[in-house]
Amino acid sequence: MGQHPGDYGTEVEEFMDADAMDDFTRRQITEIDEALRRIDDGTWGRCVVCGREIDAERLEAKPQAERCREHQEELERSSR
Ligand SMILES: [Zn+2]
Repeated sequence: MGQHPGDYGTEVEEFMDADAMDDFTRRQITEIDEALRRIDDGTWGRCVVCGREIDAERLEAKPQAERCREHQEELERSSR
């Protein structure tokens, strides 16, 4: 990764300038960006649908998760 491991925001912005970026990467960056915003808001770690706390286990695997397991599965089912 970059020269400043502690400066995550800068890293993300540098990422944004990359010319070749696939949709998956773009989506990941958007999710991370929103997660950072939710940390500022104090709503990070809560499901955006039901407001319940997201499992610690799940947040460890995916810190930018914005839905609890139940609502994430619901979303994935409906998008298929
Ligand atoms: Zn939920």
